[in-house]
Amino acid sequence: MPTLERRLLKAAHMMRTAGNLTVFTGAGVSVESGIPPFRGSSGLWQKYDPQVLDLGYFHHNPLDSWRVIREIFYDFFGKAKPNAAHLALAKLEEMGLLRCIITQNIDNLHQEAGNTIIHEFHGNSQVLRCTQCEQHFPAGEIDLAVLPPKCLHCGALLKPDFIFFGEAIPMDAFHLSQEAARIADVFVIIGSTGEVMPANQIPVIAKQSGAKIIEINPEPSHYTHAITDVYLGGKAGEIMPRLMRKIENNLSSKN
Ligand code: NAD
Repeated sequence: MPTLERRLLKAAHMMRTAGNLTVFTGAGVSVESGIPPFRGSSGLWQKYDPQVLDLGYFHHNPLDSWRVIREIFYDFFGKAKPNAAHLALAKLEEMGLLRCIITQNIDNLHQEAGNTIIHEFHGNSQVLRCTQCEQHFPAGEIDLAVLPPKCLHCGALLKPDFIFFGEAIPMDAFHLSQEAARIADVFVIIGSTGEVMPANQIPVIAKQSGAKIIEINPEPSHYTHAITDVYLGGKAGEIMPRLMRKIENNLSSKN
C-alpha cells in the first residue's frame, strides 16, 4: 500500500477536482471535541445503560431516562466545541468545494463550525420536541433543572429531537441523504464504524452510484475493505488539516 503521505496527496487531488464532494460523518469526528462514541472500550455504553434511549422505556420511565439524558447530552455534549476536523469541513464549504455533509451525529458541532448544508440523519440534541403537540424548542430555552421537562405550550412531556432506539429516521434527512449519495462523485467517510442501520447504507449507495470513497478513521471499519478506495488511517482532527493544507497549496500554485 502507498505511504500515508501519498494517499493524502491522492485524496487531496480527488477532493479538489471533485464535481460533487459529499462528506458523511459518524461519532469519530467529534471524539477530539471530547465526545466519546457510543460503542467500544471508551464508549458511552460502558458507563450508561442504552435502554434510557429506548422509546418505550422513555415513555414509561421519563424521569429515569431524562436524568441520564441530561447528564450525557446537555451537561456534557452541551460544553463541547468544534475541533480541527469540523473547522476544516466548514472551510471546505466556504471555499465552494463541499456540497453537503450527511451526519449521524446529534451534537450540532458541524453547525457551530459554520457548515450550512447538513442532513442530520439522526436528528439533533439541541432541539426538544413535545411528545403531544409536536412543538419544537431550542434546548437552551428549556429549564432542565426540573425533570422531566414539560412543553411550554401544552404541558406534555418533552423529548430530545434525535432518534431513539425504535424510532424512524426523519423522512426529509433520509431522502436528502440518499439523493446526495447518489449524485456524489467523491464521498468522504469520517469516523464511522458502519454498524448503525440504515445510516450505514448511505456510503454504499454512493459507491454503487459511481462515487470514489475516501475514508478517515484511526481503525479500519466495515467500509474499509468493502467500499473504500483511499483509506487515511488517523484521527480526523489531524488528517483533515493535513488534507486542507494540500488542497490549499495546490489551489494557490494554480493561481
Ligand atoms: P461509532 O460509535 O459506531 O464509531 C465511531 C468510529 O469513530 C469508530 O470507527 C472509531 O474507530 C472512529 N474514531 C474514533 N476516534 C476517531 C477520531 N479521532 N477520528 C476519526 N475517527 C475516529 O460511531 P457511528 O458509526 O457514528 O455510530 C454511532 C451512532 O451513535 C451514530 O449513529 C450517532 O447517532 C450516535 N452518536 C453520536 C455522537 C455525537 O453526536 N457526537 C456520539 C456518540 C454516538
